[in-house]
Amino acid sequence: MDKHSISERINRLRQQIDKHNHSYYVKAQPTISDFEYDQLLKELVKLEQQNPEFFDPSSPSQRVGSDINQEFNQAAHSYPMLSLDNTYSREELTDFETRNKRILPENYTYICELKYDGASISLKYENGILVRALTRGDGEKGDDVTANVKTIKSITLKINGAGYPNDFEIRGEIFIPHKGFERMNDEKRAAGEPEYANPRNTAAGSLKIQNSALVAKRPLDCYLYYIIGNGLPTKSHYKNMQLAREWGFKVPHEITSCKSLKEVNTYIDYWEKERVNLPYDIDGIVIKIDNLDQQQALGWTAKSPRWATSYKFKAEQVETQLLSISYQVGRTGAITPVANLSPVQLAGTTVKRASLHNADQIALLDIRINDFVYVEKGGEIIPKVVGVNKSRRAADSNATIYITQCPECGSELVRKEGEAKHYCPNETGCPPQIKGKLEHFVSRKAMDIGTAQATIDQLFQAGLLHNIADFYLLQKSQLLKLERFGDKSADNLIKSIENSKTVPFERVLFSIGIRYVGETVAKTLARNLKSIDAIISATKDELLAIEEIGEKIALEVVNHFSDKAQLEIVSRLKSYGVQLEQKAETQLGNQLQGKSLIISGVFEKHSREQLKEIIEKYGGKNVSSISSKTDFLLAGDKIGPSKLEKAQKLGIPILSEDEFLSMLD
Ligand code: AMP
Ligand code: ZN
Repeated sequence: MDKHSISERINRLRQQIDKHNHSYYVKAQPTISDFEYDQLLKELVKLEQQNPEFFDPSSPSQRVGSDINQEFNQAAHSYPMLSLDNTYSREELTDFETRNKRILPENYTYICELKYDGASISLKYENGILVRALTRGDGEKGDDVTANVKTIKSITLKINGAGYPNDFEIRGEIFIPHKGFERMNDEKRAAGEPEYANPRNTAAGSLKIQNSALVAKRPLDCYLYYIIGNGLPTKSHYKNMQLAREWGFKVPHEITSCKSLKEVNTYIDYWEKERVNLPYDIDGIVIKIDNLDQQQALGWTAKSPRWATSYKFKAEQVETQLLSISYQVGRTGAITPVANLSPVQLAGTTVKRASLHNADQIALLDIRINDFVYVEKGGEIIPKVVGVNKSRRAADSNATIYITQCPECGSELVRKEGEAKHYCPNETGCPPQIKGKLEHFVSRKAMDIGTAQATIDQLFQAGLLHNIADFYLLQKSQLLKLERFGDKSADNLIKSIENSKTVPFERVLFSIGIRYVGETVAKTLARNLKSIDAIISATKDELLAIEEIGEKIALEVVNHFSDKAQLEIVSRLKSYGVQLEQKAETQLGNQLQGKSLIISGVFEKHSREQLKEIIEKYGGKNVSSISSKTDFLLAGDKIGPSKLEKAQKLGIPILSEDEFLSMLD
C-alpha cells in the first residue's frame, strides 16, 4: 500500500471503530461481534505502529491506555466546578420553588435528572476534539486525568456531528455500573484480596490510577449532564443536552422537563421506588431551571448554583430479626461485632449480615438478640444496623453482654482510652493478627515480596509461617508440596524473598508492623536513630525528642520492643541478612540539613515526587502546609496563588527549580 492508501485505510478504520464504540457503549446496541471488533482494532494499531506519522491523539487506539506512569498536573477549570445545594424533604423543595417564584417574574420550566453517584468530571472540547479532562478538585483547579478518561469508551474523543461550539466544557459523572463492580469484586475475592467498598469510591479511585492501561480494564462509564461555554446552540439546558446526545455524548434518557413543582414531585416519587431497578447507583434527583437566562438571573452562591438543587434519597431501610452476634478479629486485632440476620432484600441484594460497629453502639441502641432491627445500606459493602423496633421486643429479652475474650485465641480483650473498639493484645499469637502482619510485611510498600493473600493463608495453614522471620527459612521443596505452587512460582517466591534483603532499613522498619509506625514515621525513626538496635534501646523520652514523634508513637515503639517475641524476630531477621541499619549512601549531602521546604506548582526538570526525594537526600524535609517554620517555598509553574501569598506574607524565600538545584551543587 502507498502512503495515501494507508492513510485512507487508517481513517476508515478509525471511523468504523468509533461508530461501533458509540453503538455499543453509548446506545447499548452492539453492531458487530467482539471478534470482528478486535480484528478492526488490531489492524488499526498495527498500521499506526508502522506509520507513526499518522498518529492522532483522538484515535480509538488511544483508548487502551499506556503503561507509562503519569503524574497528575493540576489545571484551572475554565468555569468553577461547584457543588449542588441539597434538600432532604419536600418542604425544602417547596422553599426552592418559593424563591424561584419570587425572583423570576415569568414562567419557568424545571428539568429533572437522576443524581448519579460517582466522580464528577469536566471534559473540554476544542474544535470537536477532547483536549482535557479535569476532576472537580477544589472547584477552581482539578487534576488533569485526560489519559485515563480517554480509556472510557462511552466518552467521545472526537465529535462526529455538526453545530457544536468551537470551545466548550461538558460535565458529567464517571461511575461503575453494578455488574462491572460485582465483576471487579469477584476477581478480588478469587485472588483472596480485600474487596472494593463501593462503586463510587472505586470510580473516583480509578481516575487517579497512574497507569492508564490499568484504567482501561476498569468498567467505567460516564453520563453527561451539563454543558457550558460560549455560543451554546440554544437557551435551553434541556435542548442543549438533546443536541449533545446527537453529537455523540452519552446523555441519559431519564432527563425530563417539568412544568410545575407537582410534576417534579411525581418524578421524585417514581424514582424513589424505581431506583432499585437501575443498573447503577443514584443518590437523589437533581432539579434545574431550564432557561439559561433565568439561570443567570438566579445566579450562584460561592458554593453552588441558585438555579438548581438536589433532592437526596434516604438510605433504604428494612426491618428484620437479629439471630445472633458474631465477633470478628481483624488483622490489627480490632474486634468487630457482626449481626447475623434473618435474610432480607435490601437495595437489590440479599442481606444476611450487618455491622454493629462496637460495644458502645450496641449499648447505645440497646440491641439484643432476637430483636427486630432496622438495617440500612450506607456507603460500605456491609449494611449496618441503625435501630431497634422495640415494640416487637420479647418480654424475656436480655441486654447484650459484650465479649471479654478474643474468639480466636482466648486472650483477655483490652480497650484503650479514647478508642471505640476492643482489641486482642496477643499480636504474636492470634491467628488473624499473625496473618495480618505477614500480609503487611510482603506488601508493595513494605518488603515487596511477590505473593498473594491466599498464598500466605496457605503457608500459614501448612505451619510454614508463624511470623515474618519465617519467610527467610522457606525452602523450594516445602513450597512444591503445596497445591498452589509449581516449579516456576516456587522459584519466583524464593527469589523475591531473597531480593527483599536489599530493601533499605527505613522500609524494613515499616514492614515489621509496629502500631502507628507508618511509612513516614518509619523514615523519621530510621533517619534519626540509624539502626534497629538504637531504636530498641531508645527510651520513651529519647524518642519524644525526635521531631514529629509524639507520645502515642513513642509509647507504642517502647512497648513493641519490650516484648521478647518481637526481639527474637528482629534478631532472626538480622541473622538472615535483612537490612537493619541505615546505609550511609542514601544521603547525598547536607545542604538542606534541618530545613523544611514546601513544593508547589509544576516543574520542568523533575516531577514533584523526584524533588521530594532530592530534598530528603540532602537532609531536608518536604512539608505539605506552609507555616512560619517553613524555610523555603520551591515554586514551579501554576503555583497556587494562596500559597504564594502566604509565603510572601510570612517572608519565606521562594526558590525556582534552578535556584534550588544550584543550592545543592
Ligand atoms: P454533592 O456532591 O452531594 O454536593 O452533589 C453535587 C454533585 O452531584 C455534582 O458535583 C455532580 O458530581 C453530581 N451529580 C450527579 N448527577 C448530577 C446531575 N444530573 N446534574 C448535576 N450534578 C450531578
Ligand atoms: Zn486473639
